[in-house]
Amino acid sequence: QTSIKEGLLLKQTSSFQRWKKRYFKLRGRTLYYAKDSKSLIFDEVDLSDASVAESSTKNVNNSFTIITPFRRLILCAENRKEMEDWISSLKSVQSREHYETAQFNVEHFSGMHNWYACSHARPTFCNVCRESLSGVTSHGLSCEVCKFKAHKRCAVRATNNCKWTTLASIGKDIIEDEDGIAMPHQWLEGNLPVSAKCAVCDKTCGSVLRLQDWKCLWCKAMVHTACKDLYPRKCPLGQCKVSIIPPTALNSIDSDGFWKATCPPSCASPLLVFVNSKSGDNQGVKFLRRFKQSLNPAQVFDLMNGGPHLGLRLFQKFDNFRILVCGGDGSVGWVLSEIDKLSLHKQASLGVLPLGTGNDLARVLGWGGSCDDDTQLPQILEKLERASTKMLDRWSIMSYELKLPAKPSILPVTAEESEECQISAYEDSVAAHLAKILNSDQHSVVISSAKILCETVKDFVAKIGKTYEKPMENAEEADAMAIKCTELNEKLDLLLQALHTEAQAAPILPGITPPIVEEEGEEFSSEESLSESKEQLAECVSKSSAQKLFKPREQLMLRANSLKKAVRQIIEQAEKVVVDEQNAHSEEQVNQSPLEYSKELDESKEEEKEEDTKELESPSIKTAPRSPDRRTSRGIHSQTGSFSAPALAASKENLPVLNTRIICPGLRAGLAASIAGSSIISKMLLANIDPFGATPFIDPDPDSLEGYSEKCVMNNYFGIGLDAKISLEFNNKREEHPEKCRSRTKNMMWYGVLGTKELLQRTYKNLEQKVQLECDGQYIPLPSLQGIAVLNIPSYAGGTNFWGGTKEDDIFGAPSFDDKILEVVAVFGSMQMAVSRVIKLQHHRIAQCRSVKITILGDEGVPVQVDGEAWIQPPGVIKIIHKNRAQMLTRDR
Ligand SMILES: [Zn+2]
Ligand SMILES: [Zn+2]
Ligand SMILES: [Zn+2]
Ligand SMILES: [Zn+2]
Repeated sequence: QTSIKEGLLLKQTSSFQRWKKRYFKLRGRTLYYAKDSKSLIFDEVDLSDASVAESSTKNVNNSFTIITPFRRLILCAENRKEMEDWISSLKSVQSREHYETAQFNVEHFSGMHNWYACSHARPTFCNVCRESLSGVTSHGLSCEVCKFKAHKRCAVRATNNCKWTTLASIGKDIIEDEDGIAMPHQWLEGNLPVSAKCAVCDKTCGSVLRLQDWKCLWCKAMVHTACKDLYPRKCPLGQCKVSIIPPTALNSIDSDGFWKATCPPSCASPLLVFVNSKSGDNQGVKFLRRFKQSLNPAQVFDLMNGGPHLGLRLFQKFDNFRILVCGGDGSVGWVLSEIDKLSLHKQASLGVLPLGTGNDLARVLGWGGSCDDDTQLPQILEKLERASTKMLDRWSIMSYELKLPAKPSILPVTAEESEECQISAYEDSVAAHLAKILNSDQHSVVISSAKILCETVKDFVAKIGKTYEKPMENAEEADAMAIKCTELNEKLDLLLQALHTEAQAAPILPGITPPIVEEEGEEFSSEESLSESKEQLAECVSKSSAQKLFKPREQLMLRANSLKKAVRQIIEQAEKVVVDEQNAHSEEQVNQSPLEYSKELDESKEEEKEEDTKELESPSIKTAPRSPDRRTSRGIHSQTGSFSAPALAASKENLPVLNTRIICPGLRAGLAASIAGSSIISKMLLANIDPFGATPFIDPDPDSLEGYSEKCVMNNYFGIGLDAKISLEFNNKREEHPEKCRSRTKNMMWYGVLGTKELLQRTYKNLEQKVQLECDGQYIPLPSLQGIAVLNIPSYAGGTNFWGGTKEDDIFGAPSFDDKILEVVAVFGSMQMAVSRVIKLQHHRIAQCRSVKITILGDEGVPVQVDGEAWIQPPGVIKIIHKNRAQMLTRDR
């Protein structure tokens, strides 16, 4: 006999709730288990009268219980998918008929309940034996879809009458009259809410004393038993009516084996729901459950369980339908490309319920950056019903790999750059030791790195202090800075002392998690299984001698925290000064070229108020990234400062604008056009052509796509160089250390660390020598930059408006995602992306255009990212061309 399913699970022991690894085999109606797969003797559990239930509502450790009349097995799977596979396999052996699991989840057709163990705040009664559930909290099993209640012992005798999904599941209750077939109410007895009122007589109904009176699972109407027959028989489906696809509509299977729904008149615009159960920690699972409660469970799909194909096939015969994707931008992209494959863009319009982080597309469409756990489903559905439709441009990333000659790279080393080198040495050291602290499990390594880190920061702070002493322009600010530097120094000293103490204590307790990373502690307690942490707690207590050693650790944490604060203050101070300086210079510019700059300045001020520049939430990172930021801003500011003098410097700032005037002359007449006619342009263009890579690579047939293949589709943005490298490293890190990237804060942290490292090492300084950019066939001489971003939507990497404005101005049109126009911007450094002042001054804009061509020269690949997915693109040509448009549901605020 072959196994239906086999594999390792953790099994809870009956004593002390410990977990033991066991190998399980499901054969026929028997579950066998032993120490490992090769064991000779297996224990066995007869499943003929068994129920399976998830262990709790939240169920973070993916555990489930098998309940038989004789015993109870608590098991724990490695992940949610694995747990669900086990549960559905265990259920499938109990149901008589055999269901095709590949095309639909078993539970959609079997009518079997989906149990989870839970407690109830008020008296609750078993729908099987009618007795009350035991204990003060009425502990028992509840069905996650229909809320059917049962004792653990009774669950096995519950009839398979869970929420209907198809016409067949309604059975003999179906209403047939002159209008055709209609759906009756699906009544569930008892356990009504406190305030329940009868829909017939309008008097209170339900009881806390016994299982009494009824509630419809669909329209939520409640009635007395005596009034039930007086109530109209047809179910109006209630509040969510517009979105629900009634079971009566699911009545036939296509010739190719897929269910097809027929659209009944009641259902104006049915909703297909896709939930990524992995999104937003455990948020996805919750929403999956809630959507099944409010809608037909058969119209709700878990993307992690079969992808978008089944759902789209089910709805594809509809003239029009709506799709709701609950997840991140990646999930949206996944569904959109499946819509491409089935060519359903005409029928389908798509809305987003953002889960997790990132979610640029959701933001732009008006659905916000992330969804609150407590958001009520009817509210969400109502918003969706009132949503309007907008078209979203989608772009093909076409690539053609071939080797091209590199540009000669001889760069003169200026005095400024050698000073930069000096600072880079600091930065390299900071980055290296940060990495060590984060990656090492060895106490001694962590401590020694922390020491060096502190010393480096101290040194660096001293240098900042000196810089501030020099130009005594603003005594007040210099004073403030001096005070903060002193404070920081004191704190660094304290921390160093503490580290020293800790280092001496270290040999006794090796391998303790580094205290510098604050999140580590929280993560541990929340994510680790309860029993395990309890075990470790017990161990800690037993070694009472070790307890003393924990005290210095606490102190260390405290000091690290206050150090963090002090560093942040210094950075804020420094930043403030830089911004002030920048603004001051902007004002100077206003005097020089009034038209252009006054406008930009106004806009920049306006935006400063509304734009939220959230800081990266990591303690250890704080030290490093900000100080270079100051330098970056300075660098750009110094360019800005020299604006008044020669044409060469001025044009360096204005280069992108100039090009755009030439590329898109029709965008707006007026200023742009008048300037475009003057001879100044040719001068500026000439001055800006990169002297070392002056000859562009010439494509004999620029419009041809022969030899190109579609690498992927872009909905949000494309990045090459610095920004892409960051997401690439992040993705690699995620694969290496999934446990480190589990929570949101952790994700932010890695972005922070890697972003910093990148900025510090300046790997992609001078990307302009490795790539060549063409917009609408126009060769663009690039300034010195580290990356290029091509934007379809005005939100980048979690909410930054990288274009730096939403309105049209004298040069550019307003950015929009349905104009078949892309925005191209330069990336100067990763800090610019996070909190850039440069964006507000808009000196980074390169162009607006209809197609982009990027040529990667030389024989080395360059990191590239599309919508957050990154890879190394080998040398050759990338073309970004318009693909199609998708109908998106948007919320107007
Ligand atoms: Zn019972
Ligand atoms: Zn149920
Ligand atoms: Zn009803
Ligand atoms: Zn009544």
